[in-house]
Amino acid sequence: TELLAKPIEKIRTQMEDLQKADASISRIRTLFETRSSIEDGPGAPLPEGPLAVAFDGVTFSYEDNAEEPTLSGLQLELAPGEVLGLLGRTGSGKSTIARLLLRFYDPQQGAVLLGGTDIRDCKLSGLRKRVAMVTQNIEIMEGTIRDNLTFYDDAIPDARIVEVLEQLGLGGWYGSLPDGLDTMLASGGGSLSAGEAQLLAFARVFLTDPGLIIMDEASSRLDPLTEQRIEEAIGKLLANRSCIIIAHRLATVQRADRIAILENGVVIESGRRTALAADPKSRFSAMLATGLEEVLA
Ligand code: ADP
Repeated sequence: TELLAKPIEKIRTQMEDLQKADASISRIRTLFETRSSIEDGPGAPLPEGPLAVAFDGVTFSYEDNAEEPTLSGLQLELAPGEVLGLLGRTGSGKSTIARLLLRFYDPQQGAVLLGGTDIRDCKLSGLRKRVAMVTQNIEIMEGTIRDNLTFYDDAIPDARIVEVLEQLGLGGWYGSLPDGLDTMLASGGGSLSAGEAQLLAFARVFLTDPGLIIMDEASSRLDPLTEQRIEEAIGKLLANRSCIIIAHRLATVQRADRIAILENGVVIESGRRTALAADPKSRFSAMLATGLEEVLA
């Protein structure tokens, strides 16, 4: 029994680790899990590189017999590599647009197209590899930094992870870690600062290299240095990718090629940012004059 005690103890802790990992994975799965009404598509391929996006007459309600649809006849177009700034008050339908792009729901009318392909024809797994969502609520699970960044995809080499951390200005932080990529993170992030957690979420996106990013920008303020690092990271993130930004801040809005203003599930104004900003009669120029933070509150 003396001889067996150590191996048995080892197996026990490994089982515990596995159970913890399993719980974390299933928590993340439920985030991405589809509703029962969503059927997986036959597997139409999505093109490589930045993805064109189109909402073609999309009408959607969360409930089948809703009086007013959440989105009504929505028309949106984005060329590959363009950045769309999506503006609108709380409840106007911005997050619903994001959920439809990831196929958490399907529209009752119209179609959502990526690279010209109706996303109902794609495999869900393929779709969600090509479309990444970056939100303000960053899910850090209990586990190593490596697992948090790769979601257990061991095809991603450590060297690539470190390279991405350095690109994002996290090189110094990484260098200070006791166990490098094996350093454990606590569920919820523990000792990570808000800025570090945000940058780690960006690192996840770099590692999956999607063709479309949906970014729900944090409206809370960070310290100026962190904010500057995040601004720089966003710039790198957007290079050669299409992006829809649910924007709250002027600095972020200024990155947009196009603007769409949403009200009650309808696009009430859209166009090139520079053209809308130059038009004194546009709602966008009025928003800029009033201050975005106020208008979007
Ligand atoms: P935004 O992101 O612009 O704040 P949302 O897309 O979250 O707006 O919400 C649009 C509308 O849909 C709101 O009226 C909201 O109450 C409603 N809504 C959002 N999520 C759900 C849901 N899961 N079930 C039912 N109604 C929802």
